[in-house]
Amino acid sequence: RASMQPAAPMSEGKGGPPVHGVSNTVVGVLGGGQLGKMLCQAATQMGIKMVILDPLEGCPASSVCHEHVVGSFSDGDTVREFAKRCGVLTVEIEHVDAATLEKLEKQGVDCEPKASTITIIQDKYSQKTHFSKFGIPLPDFMEVDTLHSVQEAGEKFGYPLMVKSKRLAYDGRGNAVAQKKEELPSVVASLGGFEHGLYVERWAPFVKELSVIVARSRDSSTVCYPVVETIHKDNICHVVEAPAEVSDKIKKLATSVAEKAIKSLEGAGVFAVELFLTEDDQILLNEVAPRPHNSGHHTIESCYTSQYEQHLRAILGLPLGDPSMKAPAAIMYNILGEDEGEAGFFLAHQLIERALNIPGASVHWYGKPEMRKQRKMGHITVVGPSKTSVRSRLEKLMQSDTYVPK
Ligand code: ATP
Ligand code: MG
Ligand code: MG
Repeated sequence: RASMQPAAPMSEGKGGPPVHGVSNTVVGVLGGGQLGKMLCQAATQMGIKMVILDPLEGCPASSVCHEHVVGSFSDGDTVREFAKRCGVLTVEIEHVDAATLEKLEKQGVDCEPKASTITIIQDKYSQKTHFSKFGIPLPDFMEVDTLHSVQEAGEKFGYPLMVKSKRLAYDGRGNAVAQKKEELPSVVASLGGFEHGLYVERWAPFVKELSVIVARSRDSSTVCYPVVETIHKDNICHVVEAPAEVSDKIKKLATSVAEKAIKSLEGAGVFAVELFLTEDDQILLNEVAPRPHNSGHHTIESCYTSQYEQHLRAILGLPLGDPSMKAPAAIMYNILGEDEGEAGFFLAHQLIERALNIPGASVHWYGKPEMRKQRKMGHITVVGPSKTSVRSRLEKLMQSDTYVPK
């Protein structure tokens, strides 16, 4: 089973079987959504074989991967069987069966990043506990398991109070805000009660949300992408501006917090660090994703090495690429479902038609089989000679949409 060999760094390959092209190692990806698709697109360019595990027939990555195994990445037996086909196993989503990854790793399967990292990150409360041990600045947080304990947290942290699910959160699903004590019972109920685990966070009075993508190689060296600003609408990432318009001092601080956070985790790959910038110039960590991230989509068009190529380079033991921007400015706009079914497809298509007429705009359509409200269906990246020019190009794209450039 040659495919069970750990990914050999390029130099080591010299003594082994001849390498055809970039790498002989088959990459297995748990998850085949848009992030998996864009990983496969980068892999195709370099002739790297990708196999995908995703339960959805026709998932976005299925159109570009070498092979799509239809099955659940939350099921131990399925993940174990899938791992047999792969030289290295990675993820495009953190909500996978981490316990199985831990066991597979002990049997010599190469998981990048490491199972320990997925275990820590997939539970947002354990993630916070982990980072606080490493002295990473965070909003205050507290585990809650009864209405009484949430009320106590409210007294301690004040209102608004952010209540979060520990697990299976994405796009703000799993977060709920209580404006006052009286709202706590309904907020807790809206998250399904205490059964699946909740914790609370002190409200972070941020002036901007920033993100830094950090890539780490198998030998633990790191490179960081330029700091970007993420603009959310209803808790969902909507627009990303690169580079962020903040002082050099803030850029340095954000980058150093991000790098320190990632150095506390194990394994190779790219990691996204979501940050809050407060009025008094503090940087607080919101959360980390152990994989390529929405805030790094722009890197495909705007950086020398995209986050997707970088992830492959990192997990395969290849030299890391240059993360710096080759365009002066970029804006990424998420195409979110505005309506169900055909009506939604029609609206998205109108937006795409406008984008196709805008200089420097690239359209990405994920090919999700179903359109739903607020679902990430695709994105548009606009690159250009300055922040002002990409903003005005985006304005043309928006017309009646809600994005208001500053
Ligand atoms: P993602 O899709 O990024 O995984 P998620 O569902 O894990 O999102 P969070 O990142 O926890 O959710 O929160 C979503 C958004 O809610 C944040 O980007 C931020 O705008 C807001 N938010 C989260 N935590 C706080 C906080 N403590 N104070 C104020 N706003 C917050
Ligand atoms: Mg999250
Ligand atoms: Mg988030």
